[in-house]
Amino acid sequence: LCRDTTTGPIETTMCHYETIESVNDELYNNLQELVRTPFFKFFQVDLYRECPFWQENGFCMNRECGITTVDESEIPEKWRAASLSAIELPPMDERIQLPGCYYRDSDYCFLDDMTEGEYVDLTQVPERYTGYAGPSAHRVWKSIYEENCFGLSELGLMTGHSPAPVSLPDTLTDVLRSELNADTGSGECLEKRVYYKIISGMHASISTHICLEYLNQTTGELGPNLQCFVTRVASHPERLQYIYFNTVLLLRAVARIGPYLSAYDYCSTDSPNPLDPKHVSSSDEMITLNKLSDVLAIAEHVGKFDEKVLFRGENANVLKQEFKEHFRNVSRIMDCVGCDKCRLWGKVQTTGLATALKILFELDETALDPRKNTKLLQRSEVVALINTLHRFSESIHAVERFREMWRQTDDQD
Ligand code: FAD
Repeated sequence: LCRDTTTGPIETTMCHYETIESVNDELYNNLQELVRTPFFKFFQVDLYRECPFWQENGFCMNRECGITTVDESEIPEKWRAASLSAIELPPMDERIQLPGCYYRDSDYCFLDDMTEGEYVDLTQVPERYTGYAGPSAHRVWKSIYEENCFGLSELGLMTGHSPAPVSLPDTLTDVLRSELNADTGSGECLEKRVYYKIISGMHASISTHICLEYLNQTTGELGPNLQCFVTRVASHPERLQYIYFNTVLLLRAVARIGPYLSAYDYCSTDSPNPLDPKHVSSSDEMITLNKLSDVLAIAEHVGKFDEKVLFRGENANVLKQEFKEHFRNVSRIMDCVGCDKCRLWGKVQTTGLATALKILFELDETALDPRKNTKLLQRSEVVALINTLHRFSESIHAVERFREMWRQTDDQD
């Protein structure tokens, strides 16, 4: 597949991923429409919880950091927090002692308890350059890796030394297989490596969105910034790989939960009344179901991930618990992000990835049966899962654009 490996960081990294990219165009187009439907665009989130780890003063004063919320009256009643009977809280004494938080034992993140929080129309607050940077942002990333990712020194983060890149695979399935079978001669167990890849891949995907809509200081307009992408992502081949890795992981989770998602109730009302201004038209519901079924077909086709390779052997349960604890901590660290829009998307994506991990590692076939377990996922988990897949698919889509920009600069030289 890769005929010319001398044309720079984007080309050398990407030419092996033609297969993924050919699937991605269709996936991205479908997801693009799906996340604009009423069911998937409204997300409820508690954005103003205290940072449980340190005093966070680094609030971003930049206009781009702010978000506009949606009044609850604009949300179809059936989707409002008060109506979501699917939320089954554990007894008080089993809940972790954090204000406004709870988790169920199978969860990989702390979910907002839906008693507080705003509604956001995700299509109105796109993830892009906000200007949030410096010590506050670095502290958050550092603690995500350091506190929750088994230490900086072990994995070489921020030292310029990256974990040994694995060989470049040709197909979507191979991406996963090679990641899962990657040599762990460094002494790292597979689960720790996978954990690092998930975090680093999410970081790389966020960076890609920042670079795709970056502030041009001269014109004051937002637009793609090739140098930003090369510096932050493409010159670290493994970071690009991890974007693909996360995409496959999410696709596998979506494929696994396909029957449940197909049976999910996306209607905005119990008894459709077209005269009700909050009633979402049946054509919206049709689009939701049609687009979802297209996404599921792609996920079924390419979401090949053998999750059974992980968490087996004598320390399996301990490792799984540790993995889960680490991931839960990442979701709490999101409360320390000092920029509303960044915090929002950080929460959407950690919830989406945590939902995927739960689907892959916690739920057996009986649990996944939509007839036996109708309340398996909360609405916010379903919304976050699909929006997170959309984020990653958009990053892969952006790579094509940056590659084209790279070619053009190359032609000029
Ligand atoms: P950073 O991205 O802050 O990275 C810090 C260090 O981590 C780097 O020096 C590097 O050594 C290492 N590193 C970088 N990428 C990776 C990787 N993929 N894998 C492993 N190590 C890596 N800013 C916006 O403009 N818009 C947003 O929507 C936004 N969302 C954010 C969401 C979260 C959760 C956080 C914590 C920050 C967000 N930011 C956002 C800030 C943004 O991520 C950067 O922190 C900021 O742009 C400064 O970038 P930087 O070049 O200093 O490096």
